Amino acid sequence: MKYYKIPFCLVFLFLTITCRAQSENLHSFRVVPLGVEGGLNESNLSSYMLAAAGTDAFIGLDAGTLFSGLKIAVNKGVFRQPLTEVLRKKIKGYLISHPHLDHVAGLVINSPDDSNKNIYALPFCLKVLEEKYFTWESWANFGDKGEAPQLKKYHYIDLEENKETALEGTKMFVQPFLLSHSSPGLSTAFLIRHDSTYLLYLGDTGADSIERSDHLKQLWKHITPLIIDKKLKAIFIEVSFPRSQPDNQLFGHLTPDLLMQEMQTLSSLCGTSSLKGLPVVITHIKPAGNNEQQIKKELRETNKLQLKIIFPKQGVPLNF
Ligand SMILES: [Zn+2]
Ligand SMILES: [Zn+2]
Repeated sequence: MKYYKIPFCLVFLFLTITCRAQSENLHSFRVVPLGVEGGLNESNLSSYMLAAAGTDAFIGLDAGTLFSGLKIAVNKGVFRQPLTEVLRKKIKGYLISHPHLDHVAGLVINSPDDSNKNIYALPFCLKVLEEKYFTWESWANFGDKGEAPQLKKYHYIDLEENKETALEGTKMFVQPFLLSHSSPGLSTAFLIRHDSTYLLYLGDTGADSIERSDHLKQLWKHITPLIIDKKLKAIFIEVSFPRSQPDNQLFGHLTPDLLMQEMQTLSSLCGTSSLKGLPVVITHIKPAGNNEQQIKKELRETNKLQLKIIFPKQGVPLNF
């Protein structure tokens, strides 16, 4: 009766591995937020590590904060390697939505300790990295374009609007869309694909009504079939100010009311109750005064579409 002699610990290990594999199969993406706010606190600015579920190959969605966020994630046991190893080996590249400092400061400051990798962005954004930040007067030129000498640690990859590009070293692909951010200022939304599932990350954006633009409307039209087919797993979108912020002082950002107005437009394209339960991750809250509590309260009050509103925390992984 040798059959019964399989050690219990082996059975337990087998079950653990099976259960873990199954729970990973249910998800398409894994996100580790490294920075979630939109100002003031320089140790917590827009930055999200994103990987295809079941893989360890991340892409950085913006890079306002790297070190402080990685430190929290490592202390929480999210990664078992030392912080610098996570930075150098697990982050395979960066997707930068727009070149405002709160989205790139971590990238610039950590560049001496980083490994060689790609920076993907639309040309308007790469131009600023090349001409303003990675220069010998403001820092060092770690890029492969711009002022000589070029240290060539970062390879700039010009994305093309609405065209899909593979994210090297990962199982993901990206399609960028233009956003209006305090017109004529620009920003980018990244639609990330893993197999046949998608995640949408928007950099800073104003509402179409305020920006006198149709960039969001065009983006909503594009993702409508993905929502109808339940292929879109989550939307990351900003809400910077509470509703008390006057229209002429929005500086290309959203309030809870403006977000819900945009979600209403999306809902009318997708059909009634199509957005119910859709995970919407709120990014870029500007933490002045009691803004944070106020924004959370206003989002709860106005969530008639029954979106699954999520407030991300530094170093706390999210699975979609
Ligand atoms: Zn901005
Ligand atoms: Zn910003």
